[in-house]
Amino acid sequence: MSTLEIRDLHVTVETENGTKEILKGVNLTIDSGETHAIMGPNGSGKSTLAYSIAGHPKYTVTSGTVTLDGEDVLAMEVDERARAGLFLAMQYPVEVPGVTVSNFLRTAKTAIDGEAPKVRTWVKDVKGAMGNLKMDPAFAERNVNEGFSGGEKKRHEILQMELLKPKMAILDETDSGLDVDALRIVSEGVNRAKSETNCGVLLITHYTRILRYIKPDHVHVFVNGKVAEEGGPELADRLEAEGYDRYVNAAAEAK
Ligand code: ADP
Ligand code: MG
Ligand code: MG
Repeated sequence: MSTLEIRDLHVTVETENGTKEILKGVNLTIDSGETHAIMGPNGSGKSTLAYSIAGHPKYTVTSGTVTLDGEDVLAMEVDERARAGLFLAMQYPVEVPGVTVSNFLRTAKTAIDGEAPKVRTWVKDVKGAMGNLKMDPAFAERNVNEGFSGGEKKRHEILQMELLKPKMAILDETDSGLDVDALRIVSEGVNRAKSETNCGVLLITHYTRILRYIKPDHVHVFVNGKVAEEGGPELADRLEAEGYDRYVNAAAEAK
């Protein structure tokens, strides 16, 4: 059993107009096997939360804690976070010139496990995972992210998740830019990885449609840099029907 715990997290970025606080006290606890959806309007700080957990250098944690099984995630280097069992797709470089998907996956797997995977089983695992995600085998020989379409990027993300077997996966807008078929295939990939590893999932999304395929146990409404409301799956239905307005207005009035 693993637990990712975020306590009173405050994060700033440097902008042209000075330092801006984006996360204003985020609290969240995710256990193995749980899927938590974070839903919120554009600009509410959802990606900032993901980047901050990933250790992106642009984001400064000014107070609060993030721990994985009691270990201080914020004190870890980016690669240590991955070795500790955190999967954050965006921690990897956007484009890796000259590195094929196949080599990239093998390198990442070796770094995380501390030893190279056995060639025979690894090749079989990669083929199997790519087949599940309806990916062309030729994709393995392409350079990472070079000319990837939005859908290919997302599949590559979930391919990594299936093969790297994290304890906690943080998926930011995995649904963006996917047509219905791709959304279903990618969602099935997440569900498969979940059932194989019993990992925890933090699913960040603006729209409710991915939640038809990946069922959340908990839903958090994220407004103005913090969690404004928490509930079960029924909260996503309410958001679908009513939108974010009432939460945005309430947050504005509280200011
Ligand atoms: P969301 O993912 O919910 O749409 P973001 O986390 O991307 O929200 O952004 C939250 C706010 O922080 C926005 O107002 C955005 O402009 C600002 N922001 C995020 N990252 C940066 C950055 N690197 N530099 C300046 N402003 C940023
Ligand atoms: Mg819980
Ligand atoms: Mg975002």
